[in-house]
Amino acid sequence: MIRIHHLNCVDIQSPQFGKAIGHCLLLETTEKLVLIDTGVGWLDTQAPAQRIGQQMLDLVGFQFNEQQTAIKQIEALGLNPAKITDCVISHLDNDHIGGLADFPAAKIHVSFEEYESFKSGNPRYLSIPLAHEPSIITYPKSSETWFGFEARRLTIDFEMPMFLIPLFGHTLGHCGVAFQYQNHWVFYVGDAYYLKAELLDDNHPVNELAKLRADDDIVRLETLNKLRKLAKENPTIEMFGYHDPVEFPTLE
Ligand SMILES: [Zn+2]
Repeated sequence: MIRIHHLNCVDIQSPQFGKAIGHCLLLETTEKLVLIDTGVGWLDTQAPAQRIGQQMLDLVGFQFNEQQTAIKQIEALGLNPAKITDCVISHLDNDHIGGLADFPAAKIHVSFEEYESFKSGNPRYLSIPLAHEPSIITYPKSSETWFGFEARRLTIDFEMPMFLIPLFGHTLGHCGVAFQYQNHWVFYVGDAYYLKAELLDDNHPVNELAKLRADDDIVRLETLNKLRKLAKENPTIEMFGYHDPVEFPTLE
């Protein structure tokens, strides 16, 4: 028996682009907890300028509240954060992995391409979120598929299979995560879109920010078009992203 908890672990009030959240997933079984993306970490809330840098704080508009961090929310649910055995990560931008240091024993699962880009010195990444030298498992290209997407089977000992689904463009190794839950597919798409409205609107104003933040904007748009097609053709797939404040409260 598995339970899903939707946790919002980021509060961004962007001077330029408005409000954004950080929609993480906590998967609970009796034996273990698995976290999909981690949001801003408790350590970040204690020393934001040192860990994130004043320039990025000013640019992005992060707000800090330690009760909103994944570790504090897990405790508030009456669960034990030490039971987090694995963190599945869409990509290594700071707002997705700031919480990793709060779960130092957890294994990290990320695409091969993403970790290579991180190690190459790509300036978009901060080194601090991985400075505790966690165990990192990377996933290279696979021949498996899922609804026409490449699918990389995660090596997590869990009740159901889980897949990293390459959704490249935002970063060079950005992935979504797919798994089956109560007879339907859940598909977390990370930052492949910022707002679900982008699935229906080719000219949404948030596209400007998405383009600015993309490591490969041509590939990002190809990915977005594939998601539009998937959503249209398979309405039973429960698809959601990371930053959309409108999407979050509608899920349970
Ligand atoms: Zn993000």
